[in-house]
Amino acid sequence: MAYYITEDCISCGACEPECPNRAISEGDTIFIINPERCTECVGSHMSSRCAEVCPVDACHPDPRFKETKEQLLEKWRKLHPGEEPVRGTY
Ligand code: SF4
Ligand code: SF4
Repeated sequence: MAYYITEDCISCGACEPECPNRAISEGDTIFIINPERCTECVGSHMSSRCAEVCPVDACHPDPRFKETKEQLLEKWRKLHPGEEPVRGTY
């Protein structure tokens, strides 16, 4: 399930460099997550980095994008060709 950023975002920018998939960017008013690049941090981290670093709890799973761990791992592999996922993250 890709994450999304709510209107609570204060555009502090803390989440952007933490995303292992470069899924986060600055939008017109708040930061945004590209669901095609978000793997819930599967493949890289044990938990979702954006949600961990956000000071206002603005990063949440988006129920519109239901994906299994296998699908998220497959997405990660396409984003990181030639790399191996971090064990324990999938
Ligand atoms: S959950 Fe992980 S992969 Fe998805 S946007 Fe947040 S930091 Fe990036
Ligand atoms: S860390 Fe939270 S408040 Fe800061 S830019 Fe990201 S979503 Fe917005």
